[in-house]
Amino acid sequence: MRDSECIFCKIAGGDIPSATIYEDEKFRVILDLGPASKGHALILPKEHFANIYELDEKTAADAFILAKKMAGKMTEALGCDGFNIVQNNGSVAGQTVFHFHIHLIPRYENDGVGLGWKPGQLTEEQKEEILSKMRE
Ligand code: 5GP
Ligand code: ZN
Repeated sequence: MRDSECIFCKIAGGDIPSATIYEDEKFRVILDLGPASKGHALILPKEHFANIYELDEKTAADAFILAKKMAGKMTEALGCDGFNIVQNNGSVAGQTVFHFHIHLIPRYENDGVGLGWKPGQLTEEQKEEILSKMRE
């Protein structure tokens, strides 16, 4: 199903032109318009899912298999030194376009890309709370 209001549905479906580096029946992979690094690309399913919670398992599996393939192809073609796979869900997690997508971010020595977080500390209390909640 497509969402007529969704920009990524229009791009994935080919209604809006995009710099496409790969396409098959289920996915289109495009260059990000605001790249974090040279070659930053997005895997878009052609079907509309707002986020990972809506995604069916088969599409999730296929999307990650494609991410693996693209990482190899892009690393070979672009000569990057490493690779980040990023996937945001919900505005609090940095999602700005509410059509599921996977970021493919080639990394280069000293590229200055600011991904990451300040490590906290896993307390005994938090550990026990999380373990008990996850076992419920
Ligand atoms: P999010 O923050 O939702 O995980 O990622 C959205 C990404 O889509 C951003 O990196 C942004 O630069 C990119 N983006 C937003 N609109 C467009 C567009 O119309 N075309 C392309 N190619 N990328 C877009
Ligand atoms: Zn969509």
